[in-house]
Amino acid sequence: MVVVMRTDATEADVERVCEKVREVGGEAFVSRGTVHTIIGLVGDSALFRALDLDNLPGVDHLIQVGKPYKMVARSLHPEPTVVRVGSAEVGRSTFTIIAGPCAVESEAQAHEACRAAKEAGAAILRGGAFKPRTSPYSFQGLGKRGLEILAECRAETGLPVVTEVVDPRDVDLVAEWADALQIGTRNMQNFELLKAVGAAAKPVMLKRGFAATIEEWLMAAEYIAQRGNSEIILCERGIRTFETATRNTLDLAGMAVAQRESHLPVIVDPSHATGQRDLVAPMARAALAAGADGVMVDVHPNPDEALCDGPQALRPADLQALAEDLRALAAVLGRSMG
Ligand code: PEP
Ligand code: MN
Repeated sequence: MVVVMRTDATEADVERVCEKVREVGGEAFVSRGTVHTIIGLVGDSALFRALDLDNLPGVDHLIQVGKPYKMVARSLHPEPTVVRVGSAEVGRSTFTIIAGPCAVESEAQAHEACRAAKEAGAAILRGGAFKPRTSPYSFQGLGKRGLEILAECRAETGLPVVTEVVDPRDVDLVAEWADALQIGTRNMQNFELLKAVGAAAKPVMLKRGFAATIEEWLMAAEYIAQRGNSEIILCERGIRTFETATRNTLDLAGMAVAQRESHLPVIVDPSHATGQRDLVAPMARAALAAGADGVMVDVHPNPDEALCDGPQALRPADLQALAEDLRALAAVLGRSMG
């Protein structure tokens, strides 16, 4: 925090501010400019706020500096975090492929998609049982039955499962069945849901809100961390811009900023970012080249008949080809694949 003094502030005014700050254990650094004197404060900003410094004589205004997020900030935790999802690891040391259907539609469809994910070398399965759909007339997911099918897919493939939770009341149920809880783009600022997954004993994948700044995204992660769950994977999945040629605009620079600002792993979802099958592989390769910690892609045995997001779903053979490309690229870049 910085205290900016008025131009007519006296030495006594400056000293009064410094005294108050020191009384609560803080440090005060005075910098005398030609017009304003400013005082840089180091210490607990919550304590400083309680001092009501802006009402002291000679004080013009206060400026909050530093990051508003703390627990997820790299500045306070320089070592990158590795998040364990069942048997898989997500972090800087490895590149993780997560694949599966957008939605669990039936036993056969989910098994086929998850088998394709396993065969391609994915480390984690994805699939929505509770679907947050823009239209109330669209397929809403199979709910609890979807979770059971995902558990069967896990048993068959031996791979852990990430699946979305959309309602704070369902967190315990989903946490019972899944290896990681996904918070979708539409719920990134559903604070009650964030608090609920923050209290869960499973890792959380937090997708970036489609209209959220990186700071808002990290503040959402802070809600989860603050409740005691710091096993958080961030997922850049495209943001809404003026461009309509793609479903969203993939913000790869945003992914890199999130990695720079936070110690949490950051992955990319090129399926929801682009909405188009032919763009998924190039954007997945770009994500790896840009240093992402993994990708999450949709795969469907028969995308033309998908109940959700068919146009962006890879066919099993497409996923196989993409995974081979990613393995080759990872080797060139010196990244191992989880
Ligand atoms: C999903 O991953 O299934 C999904 C709904 O994605 P998003 O929240 O990014 O739209
Ligand atoms: Mn989808």
